[in-house]
Amino acid sequence: MPKNYLLTPGPTPLPPQVCEAMARPIIHHRTPQFQNILKEASDGLRYVFQTKGDVFILASSGTGAMEAAVVNLLSKGDTAVCIEGGKFGERWTELCRGYEINTEVVKVEWGKAVDTSVIKETLKNNPKIKVVFATLCETSTGVTNDIKALGEVVKETKAVLVVDAISGLGAIDLKTDGWSCDVVVSGSQKGLMLPPGLGFISVSAKAWKLIEESKSPRYYFDLKKAKKAADKTDTPFTPAINLIIGLCEALKIIKGVGLENVFARHKKMADATRAAAGALGLELFAPTASSDVVTAIRAPEGIDGEKLVKTMRDTYGVTIAGGQAELKGKVFRIAHMGYIEEFDIILGISCLEKVLHQMGYKFTLGTGIKAAEEVFLK
Ligand SMILES: *Cc1c(COP(=O)(O)O)cnc(C)c1O
Repeated sequence: MPKNYLLTPGPTPLPPQVCEAMARPIIHHRTPQFQNILKEASDGLRYVFQTKGDVFILASSGTGAMEAAVVNLLSKGDTAVCIEGGKFGERWTELCRGYEINTEVVKVEWGKAVDTSVIKETLKNNPKIKVVFATLCETSTGVTNDIKALGEVVKETKAVLVVDAISGLGAIDLKTDGWSCDVVVSGSQKGLMLPPGLGFISVSAKAWKLIEESKSPRYYFDLKKAKKAADKTDTPFTPAINLIIGLCEALKIIKGVGLENVFARHKKMADATRAAAGALGLELFAPTASSDVVTAIRAPEGIDGEKLVKTMRDTYGVTIAGGQAELKGKVFRIAHMGYIEEFDIILGISCLEKVLHQMGYKFTLGTGIKAAEEVFLK
């Protein structure tokens, strides 16, 4: 069995301190001991979300937090804008339709970022719009959207801005308060260096007004229940105790390094990956809005992207991600979020070169690694 290396956009590798913390014997959640942990985790999340407002921890994957946003903010028959530039943008539309919310879908060409002026027009033409659903990093295409610009547009209207930051939080900048993001959702298994199982959701004062009005059926994901409990440093249901203990440890690491330095590291990893791709004669899928979270690279002419990913994983133990939906076989994605450092990237590029070479792609061995190393030496 080959040694395993994870370079996927969730789950991401776990720091040993986090593993150790989660392996400690379980404690009870209605205790002062756990309350201290919950408080520390909530404060740490506010630091990472860059907000002074509420951030709730849910026992769900990231999509649970997305669903929480939809059911708490909107009711059947309400109207929302869903920005669709990939598979995860589509999820907002699917969720809204599940609750019979009218959707104004803004389609963005896959691989491009959303044009904020289109959202501005859409909001101007339909004053009934209550929510704009956006994605910070569209993980399926490797695009980062300009959330700051979106925030500037949406804050001038009655609508609230909801951002899926599941893959971007703790990896690239997102100023929840500073950019007027009313609701930000995230998950544990991406930039936050934890296993899957926690969802996070922040709520602004403007968003609370909508929550008060919403009549959607909900129980487990009712944020009013979450708020009532949080005000007493408690949770409405049994929390994912060990994951939250791990979260404290992960947040401690992030705080110790400092958010700005964490973002700078992600940028460097991304720059190195992009440089390697370029040096190998490979094309980025999103050259104009390439994310520092995950790099989507087009499979070159004659190379089956699915087979490339499968060989890297099954033969060499290096797991990267393939393309999703319409991009299946056409792109592969190297994630560089969370607990990923320079030599993880070098290793990933090295394996990529090896398999590309074996598949008959013509290039000089080592050119990708050299380009990445040059970025790291800067
Ligand atoms: C991973 C991801 C999701 C899905 O999160 P789950 O934890 O699998 O529910 C949603 N949106 C984005 C942008 C993601 O990267």
